[in-house]
Amino acid sequence: IQWSVDKGWYDAEVRPYGPLQLDPAASVLHYGQEIFEGIKAYRHADGSVWTFRPESNGARLQRSARRLALPELPVDAFVESLRQLIAADGDWVPSAPETSLYIRPFMIADEAFLGVRSAQHASYYVIASPAGPYFAKGVAPVSIWLSTEYARAGKGGTGAAKCGGNYAASLLPQKIAYAQGCSQVLFLDNDGYIEELGGMNVFFVQRDGTLVTPALSGSILEGITRESIIRLARDRGITVEERRMHVEDWKNGVASGEITEVFACGTAAVVTPIGELKGEGFAVGDLSAPAGELTMSLRQELTDIQYGRRPDPHGWMVKLSG
Ligand code: PMP
Repeated sequence: IQWSVDKGWYDAEVRPYGPLQLDPAASVLHYGQEIFEGIKAYRHADGSVWTFRPESNGARLQRSARRLALPELPVDAFVESLRQLIAADGDWVPSAPETSLYIRPFMIADEAFLGVRSAQHASYYVIASPAGPYFAKGVAPVSIWLSTEYARAGKGGTGAAKCGGNYAASLLPQKIAYAQGCSQVLFLDNDGYIEELGGMNVFFVQRDGTLVTPALSGSILEGITRESIIRLARDRGITVEERRMHVEDWKNGVASGEITEVFACGTAAVVTPIGELKGEGFAVGDLSAPAGELTMSLRQELTDIQYGRRPDPHGWMVKLSG
């Protein structure tokens, strides 16, 4: 779908996958004026295809658009774009249980000019790719690298938007994490409080059964899985605290047994147990310990809803075809 200042949104079309033609002066190439979303489609046992809380992704794309001075796509046009994609690619078949179709809607500023200002022309696209498990080892606990040298976002920056620039900032620390044998980076704010991982939000289970997750600070991505986990946990009567949590609280909590489980969550990774936190000169946790009970049961509940194996009490699932 195209957008210009004069016409608004126009020319929605479905076309075969292929390269884009961009002017070398297209502003996205120079100033990173780009936003995106990540959402999955799940094929249920009866062959129908569903997605999870698409209005939330559509609303987040609008918030990202506002921050990046891009046009806001109406949420119903966002959901319709997912439907059109599934209609065009309807023969997609899951290759194994719990594989899904990862959908990547994105918007770029593609007006050609060299001055620094927001563009007057933008394009919105949707592409997709079948997705298996996010981590090579499956749902086994993973190791996380604490990045103290690099931040992902700062106060007043674009941390709460889903824009390419945030990920550009996280690629080097991510590379360092891999080199240290870790699968993700943990980012802190400038005062040492926990923000999130490179592509996931983080939760802690305390010994008293309380669930804690960093409060949204304006520089943390408002994960849709995060919000869903909070809801599912509260439905079970679990107390969920959204509050600031210092990285020292993580280290000390694991060492003292005050924190009994740590997990990460996101559309791609669903719910993934964190076994260990490592950084320069320290490591806490035990990677060989089994995944936590609450972690795995929340994961099971969420995937059961997504794959249509249990009722969906919050009406989160939206049918895309079949
Ligand atoms: N934080 C970051 C930085 C992410 O990229 C993602 C993935 N979109 C998340 C958190 C989790 O968000 P969601 O649950 O909406 O996928």
